[in-house]
Amino acid sequence: TGSPSIRNFSIIAHVDHGKSTLADRILEHLGAMGERDKRDQTLDTLELERERGITIKSTPIRLKYVREGGEEYIFNLIDTPGHVDFNYEVSRSLAACEGVLLLVDASQGVEAQTIVNAYLAIDNDLEIVPVVNKIDLPAADPEGAAQELEEVIGIPAEDAVFASGKTGVGVPDILEAIVEKIPAPSGDPAAPLKALIFDSFYDAYQGVILFVRVLEGTLSPKDQIHLMNAGKNFDVDKVGTFSPGLVVGDTLPAGAVGWVAAGIKDIQDAQVGDTLTGKERRTEEPFPGFKPAQPVVFSGLYPTDTEDYRKLREALEKLKLNDAAFNFEPETSEALGFGFRCGFLGLLHAEIIQERLEREYDLDLIATAPAVVYRVTLTNGEVFETQNPAEFPTRDRIELVEEPYIKLSVMVPEDYVGPIMGLLQERRGSMQTMNYIGKRVELVYEVPFAEILYDFHDRLKSISRGYASMDYEQIGYREGDLRKVDIMVNGDVIDALAVIVHESKSYSLGRKIVDKMAEVIPRQMFPVPVQATIGGKIIARATVKAYRKDVLAKCYGGDITRKKKLLEKQKKGRARMKQFGTVEVPQEAFLAVLSTE
Ligand code: GDP
Ligand code: MG
Repeated sequence: TGSPSIRNFSIIAHVDHGKSTLADRILEHLGAMGERDKRDQTLDTLELERERGITIKSTPIRLKYVREGGEEYIFNLIDTPGHVDFNYEVSRSLAACEGVLLLVDASQGVEAQTIVNAYLAIDNDLEIVPVVNKIDLPAADPEGAAQELEEVIGIPAEDAVFASGKTGVGVPDILEAIVEKIPAPSGDPAAPLKALIFDSFYDAYQGVILFVRVLEGTLSPKDQIHLMNAGKNFDVDKVGTFSPGLVVGDTLPAGAVGWVAAGIKDIQDAQVGDTLTGKERRTEEPFPGFKPAQPVVFSGLYPTDTEDYRKLREALEKLKLNDAAFNFEPETSEALGFGFRCGFLGLLHAEIIQERLEREYDLDLIATAPAVVYRVTLTNGEVFETQNPAEFPTRDRIELVEEPYIKLSVMVPEDYVGPIMGLLQERRGSMQTMNYIGKRVELVYEVPFAEILYDFHDRLKSISRGYASMDYEQIGYREGDLRKVDIMVNGDVIDALAVIVHESKSYSLGRKIVDKMAEVIPRQMFPVPVQATIGGKIIARATVKAYRKDVLAKCYGGDITRKKKLLEKQKKGRARMKQFGTVEVPQEAFLAVLSTE
């Protein structure tokens, strides 16, 4: 059994190694160019995706390849997101495939994401077609890059296809390699239904549209289906394929990649990684590796104008319809009033949601510093998780605190290994392995997630002059000596400014925050103290200086347009401020902990 003429594959690569360009070139070769744009309109592709050049959501593409001699093949090219925040979705998309094209930029060689993605493919038992890309570049070293693939991942260098997504050279070889090397899907179309959900989106008319890979059995309209992890039943309305856009079809047999509409109203019921089976005739086991979408970074979002609370809630509800990984709940802050605690997959995910709220829903927001989820055991034995520093218990009530850790993989030229190891030590990392790959080194560390959340990537890049790359995965909780630092402005504690920090860094972080805040809080007629405290004890202090008379004097008389400009500038800045007594605290101050100096 099986579908000998189908090939389900994905393209994986380090960011900027040319995945999108090569995908476009393949589409062009198979006569589907221009249809990619149509697809963008058909589906809910985000404007932000194009601007940031990352893939957030995209549909698979179904292509017809006719070999010399007339043999016909169906290629399902399944796109994967290009950012670590979405690594779980990458792994589910790969699980829907039999093979991958592993791209390596011929001028850059193997990078951190190349390795992590290759292992994801190996873990899913996928056939890897190595492609050395961008061979048209003057700095290209195709043999060197192929050699690195052999050294690091064990793929024979002579198997590599040399290509350029820019010129199209090598593309025919890639198409042949897909047919030759990637196995056709197996699976019995008469067996009980078993299909993997690898993506989904919400459509106002049809409800949730599931993207599925049928592994066993056949999926047809009118089928009664059961979602195994959600434990819910639905009736199938329509099924279809991507050709491109959503095309309604008859059935999806084992091996097929397609979409299903089953009147599902809540995207939480249809999570990526879940297995779909028949309501009556069930498959024995769900597809392994299901993980419910779990936010790992939390931040408070408050409207700058309290009147906008309801508008913000409606906007959050709309965004959540389409995003099972995003969640929110009401939260009240003494300082900021009514708002929402929001959970995200990572900082990029948080930024995307905030940008959409501001752009598409025209909201002005104050966001509190992103925090990870801590697990606290109290002296009375009670255990709870908290992602809100304002709620962190006082030390006398704490038995122990655990924090999330990641396994971090960094690729760096050997000249920079020393300084990068210094950085990792400063971030409380512990080294697991160190591998030499030509003149470069792969460092694998276990590091507290909170330590790489803010400025780690920037520091890595600046220390290595842009040459280092990184990727990571969550590995669970470890004990840590963590403290809550409170921030006081003009003598009042501002709850929304509290941060959790490791004991060894509490003083330096307190210092950094108060200095940054003193810099960004607008001057008053009187000096305003900003203090950092732990358990009521002051650990750092800075002062927002009072206006100087001569600064004020400059605003009077003289150039009227300059004065106008100044007033406009003040007005604009004010949109993103919160008033505490007479002191205005700008958005920037809430993110002082993120500042890099
Ligand atoms: P992705 O992040 O892997 O999707 O990479 P893109 O396809 O967006 O390409 C990243 C950059 O590399 C863009 O500026 C492309 O124009 C450029 N690029 C992609 N493929 C090639 C290639 O084969 N040759 C050259 N010279 N540049 C390329
Ligand atoms: Mg891309």
